[in-house]
This record gives sequence, structure tokens and C-alpha cells, in this order.
Amino acid sequence: MKIVLLPAVCLWLLFAVSGLAQQTPQSLADAEFPSLLGIYKDIHSHPELSGQEERTAALVAKELRAAGCEVTEHLGKYENSKLKAYGVVGVMKNGDGPTVLVRTDMDALPVQEETGLPYASKVITKSDEGKDVHVMHACGHDVHVAAFIGTARALGKLKDQWHGTLVFVAQPAEEIGAGARALLKDGLYDRFGKPNFALGFHDKADVQAGHIAVTEGYTSANVDSVDVTIRGVGGHGAYPHKTKDPIVLAAEIINAWQTIASRQNNPLDPIVITVGSIHGGTKHNIIPDEVKMQITVRTYKSEVREHVLAAIERIAKGIAAAGGIPPERAPVVSVSKDQFCPASYNNPELTKRLVAVWKKSLGNDNVEIIDPTMGGDDFSEYSLSDHSIPAVYFHFGAVEPAKIAEFKQAGKELPTLHSSKFAPVPEPTIRTGVIGMITAVLELMKK
Ligand SMILES: [Zn+2]
Ligand SMILES: [Zn+2]
Repeated sequence: MKIVLLPAVCLWLLFAVSGLAQQTPQSLADAEFPSLLGIYKDIHSHPELSGQEERTAALVAKELRAAGCEVTEHLGKYENSKLKAYGVVGVMKNGDGPTVLVRTDMDALPVQEETGLPYASKVITKSDEGKDVHVMHACGHDVHVAAFIGTARALGKLKDQWHGTLVFVAQPAEEIGAGARALLKDGLYDRFGKPNFALGFHDKADVQAGHIAVTEGYTSANVDSVDVTIRGVGGHGAYPHKTKDPIVLAAEIINAWQTIASRQNNPLDPIVITVGSIHGGTKHNIIPDEVKMQITVRTYKSEVREHVLAAIERIAKGIAAAGGIPPERAPVVSVSKDQFCPASYNNPELTKRLVAVWKKSLGNDNVEIIDPTMGGDDFSEYSLSDHSIPAVYFHFGAVEPAKIAEFKQAGKELPTLHSSKFAPVPEPTIRTGVIGMITAVLELMKK
């Protein structure tokens, strides 16, 4: 019997081995999906704010180790001492060859989830300011982590198809634009090697699941956070002539800032100036001493950025002076250095190369070339300020096609990223993220 069975066993083994050799990004993404879905739901229901990513980082470290990486934890040097270092780096070596950085972000947002999903977050935590806040993965960083783990697992199994060093970076604190800089400041490139290429991805709340969407050149904007204090002279609301009212000045200044885009800027250079927060006063009949504002400023080119930031300060000070505010009470305008996030630039040649690869692996109709946005992502830091490390940051769709059609027909906007009602549809979103990242890596590191 044994003699008869042996050839059959050998034949089976041969099939099994040849089957292994034929593993593809698609087959691996399919095989990993049930486990990645579990990881996704787990992270979704346990979101953590920027600088507090303890649980997520530990999970990622464990998974990267299991995938065959040498893992370093607690990476990151922040300027803000309240943020804890939860950066994780996994290095997967496979002989000589290029070094490629693959990045995911991990943090969630102070949003109360309203998706109604069975695995919706119920988490309430303390913010850096000590306030109780709801927390939600409203930007899809949970889906990024799941796809990132799937990518590491698959590339660990496809070592016969690539060579070089993979540096998997699980980055904390993307939402506050501080994480990437903190990792670089902690010696990311000195300790793990400067990559030849950097790759990042993000889900997209208005693109259908199963699609990859990418932009050539600038893909996201410079983000500046500006704090402005308009100082007046407070007093009784019934005697305005005895005061200098900072609320009226703030109103004039806000409107004048909007003319920077329309009158002081080349219309071919996109800019956005949004006053997201304004606070002043305590009561109906008191003119306060000051009004505080917080502004987000979006630009692409650095010369435009400098021009806009200067105009914001000049206008605030000019209007205050025109309102009779003495020089010593002039507005205080401060541009936050540690919250600056540079514009992301997709290397055009590299983008074209990857688009061809994605069209081959996902189908021509499933790859979209899209317009850039004025959103921001500190993935840009990895390509350095002169874009000398070629980088591509691509999107993968996160919405069922039927839902897109339904909203379009009703003339309604889909929930955007950061909305309490946004959550990616896990399948085929995770699968597309995994395939998109694996095929990009294989193209850059192929044998
Ligand atoms: Zn976000
Ligand atoms: Zn995000």
C-alpha cells in the first residue's frame, strides 16, 4: 500500500509547492481578508487619539513581527511633551536591493460615531486638554492599518518575487500633523536607512470601493495652523465710544482675509483661508478685551504660502491700526511651527509607473486619475522638503457604488472623511488597499 501511495503523496506535494509559488497579490489578499476584517473591526471599535495610540501600536508591532519583520517600538520625538511616542517600525530584509518605505497612520479623531455599525466605537477618553471626548476612526486610519498588515503578511510570503529592504512605518499622530516629523526627528532614516522610494495610502470617501485613485504632482496641500488674538479695549456695551471693540474688528478682519484669495493671489494658485474657531466675550453688554481666532491655511507652493501668511498678519494689523488700536495692542499672529504639514508631491514618473501596474492588476476601469485636494497629510515629510525621495501617496475607494448612486440621485453629499457618519465598506476596500500596496512594492523591488 505504502509503495502505491508514495507517488500520489509526492504528486500532491508537488502541486502544493507549485501552488505556493503561484501565490499572487490577489490570492493573498483574498486569503488574508477574513483575518484582516477582524483586525479592522477590532481597531475600529478601539480608536485612540493622536499621541495616545498605545493599543493600536502594540497590535501593529505584534503583527509585523509575525509577518517576519524586525520591529522597533516607541519611536517618535515630539515637540509637545504631552504626546507619547507610539511609532512602530518593522524592517523586512530580503538581500541586496532598493529600500522602500511603506507607511500607514494609526490615530483616530475626537468625534462621536453615528454610523450605526455593530462594531461602532463607544470610546470616551481624555483629550490632551483633559476634557472627556468621544473617539472615532472617522478618517479610515483603521482600514489603513488592516491593509498595511495584509501588505506585510503578503510580502513576507512573496519573498521569491522581490529583493531589498522593506521599512514598514506605522505612524502615530497624523491628524495633528506631528507624527511623521516626530519619527524623522527620532532618527527614522539614520536608524533604518534612507529609502529609495516612499509609499503611502489613504481611503477616499467619494470614490467607489475597488478603485484606486491617484494624482500626479501635488496631491495634498501645505497646512498651516495660525492663531490670532485681536486685542481691543473692553468696557460697557452701552458706551462703545469709550472702548475699542475687538469683536467688530475681528469681523472686519475675517472678511478682509477672504479677499486675499480673490484680490491678492494669482487665481491659478489655489489657496484656502478658513477661520475654524472664534471666541470672545462673556455677556451681552460687555465689550471684551480680546477675541481669539484659529485659522487653517492651505496652499501648494512655498512662495504662495509665505505670501498668504504675510497677508494674514498685514491685514489683521492694518485693520486694527485703522480702528485706532495702539501699536502695543496690535493683533498677535502666530503660525504654529509644530503643526505645519507640507504639501505632498507625487513624483510624476513614479506615479505613471504605478498607474500602469495598478491598471494591470485591478483593471483599466478601476484606476482613476483625480484632481488634487486642499486636504493635508504629513506623509509628505517622508519625501523630504525638496521631494528628493520619490514618493507616491494613493487613494483607495471606500464607498459602495450603489450608495454613491443613491446619494447622487438624491442630490446629497456623501459623508466626508471626519464625518461621524463615515465608515469605509470593508470589502473590497481593504482588499484593494492590500493589492494596490503589494503591487506597487513588487514593481519597485522586483527581482
Ligand atoms: Zn483625517
Ligand atoms: Zn486620514
